Amino acid sequence: MTDLLIHSGSLVTPEQVFIADVAISGEEIVAIGPNLGRDATQVVDASGAFLFPGFIDAHVHFNEPGRAEWEGISTGSRALAAGGGTLYFDMPLNSTPPTLDGSTLHRKREIAEAKSVTDFALWGGLTPVNLSTIEELADLGVVGFKAFMSDSGISDFPRADRVTLRRGMQLIARRGLPVAVHAEDQELTAKLTQSLRSAGKTGWKDFLKSRPVEAELIAIRTALELAGETGCPLHIVHVSCPEGIDLIVRARDQGVNVSVETCPHYLLLTERDLEKLGAPAKCAPPVRDEGRCSALWNLVRAGMIDTLGSDHSPAPPEMKVSADAFSVWGGISGCQHGLALVLAELFSTDGVMGFQRFTSMTAAKVAERFGLESKGTIAPGCHADLVLVTFDGGSEIPPESLRYRHKMSPYTGKFLRAQVRRTWLRGQQIYGEGLVAEPKPKGRMVRPRR
Ligand SMILES: [Zn+2]
Repeated sequence: MTDLLIHSGSLVTPEQVFIADVAISGEEIVAIGPNLGRDATQVVDASGAFLFPGFIDAHVHFNEPGRAEWEGISTGSRALAAGGGTLYFDMPLNSTPPTLDGSTLHRKREIAEAKSVTDFALWGGLTPVNLSTIEELADLGVVGFKAFMSDSGISDFPRADRVTLRRGMQLIARRGLPVAVHAEDQELTAKLTQSLRSAGKTGWKDFLKSRPVEAELIAIRTALELAGETGCPLHIVHVSCPEGIDLIVRARDQGVNVSVETCPHYLLLTERDLEKLGAPAKCAPPVRDEGRCSALWNLVRAGMIDTLGSDHSPAPPEMKVSADAFSVWGGISGCQHGLALVLAELFSTDGVMGFQRFTSMTAAKVAERFGLESKGTIAPGCHADLVLVTFDGGSEIPPESLRYRHKMSPYTGKFLRAQVRRTWLRGQQIYGEGLVAEPKPKGRMVRPRR
């Protein structure tokens, strides 16, 4: 017996977009095809709408345990679901304690199982203080390890120097898991920051000068070199500039096992927006100039970017207020609208070809790169993680629509043409039209295939 039949939607895969019915039984898709009949407990008419695999956001900071007042898993996962997300990978910071060993991982897992409305995977940390716990974190199912090449801003998550990074990569390579790096050079950013601040230069333009593209490129080169040497899979997160992508693509051509993430904010915001919006648009690496932003779009369209992650990283509003741009806490709130805004833009320039690119970066490639079974595709036997989107109409994003703990985002006021109508996690609707009650948290931890 079919529990749910989604009738006549346009199904999106990385290869094609085609109209079909989708039959779901329990947690799984059981059939896809034309005219599957209407013999189901629930039938949803999806004609005129597009059905995507649930978005997988491989980069969020929900900050729980320890800093739930910054966001928390309950509000964070609900915001994600409202934006079409069905699975997130939570970063090992800024939760405190950070995810640096088995007991901290276990604690985060228990909280997420109790509070998350979507599925989740967990990143472990790679720092100088936890090289001895890499094995136990891998055994417990982390999706990979995150390291900072510049100071993280969080004292209990120290930066990985070259020695730590090399040693960590050697250990992690044996487990076949990826190391994700925040790639900015500590020496250069610290030197520039110090000289600007000591000269009393504390505006947004000064902050931008303190984190130049060159700092990113230095760190990317180092990470690529170490990945080549150790054979460890490398995932470079939040690359902001086309020059960085270029280095990565060239290293890949030479055999380095590397993938690359960019974020919606590098596509949707520029330096001018930072100067205008200030705190809500502060992040590191910072947003770049218009030329780099449009070059990055071209790389997205050309299929050169592997994954698109929101890097959702909020903080309490009082930490976002200062006359000194350097003192404002960095991090962009975007897991609810960032991906959908990119999707809408790709649709307006590339039509359904843009959908194919998008679903690759937010589902298929993510599942493939991180070894996730039953996720990231609309196919029989896969989890029924689905999102129904329409593109007729649209509206400006009002601040009150934000489901985050703190209603601050650089995307409020932007026109959003992609409307997420319904989101399903393993066959259960977790967001949208026809939902009579708030969904119960039923999120499960997803582990990579061994
Ligand atoms: Zn991040």
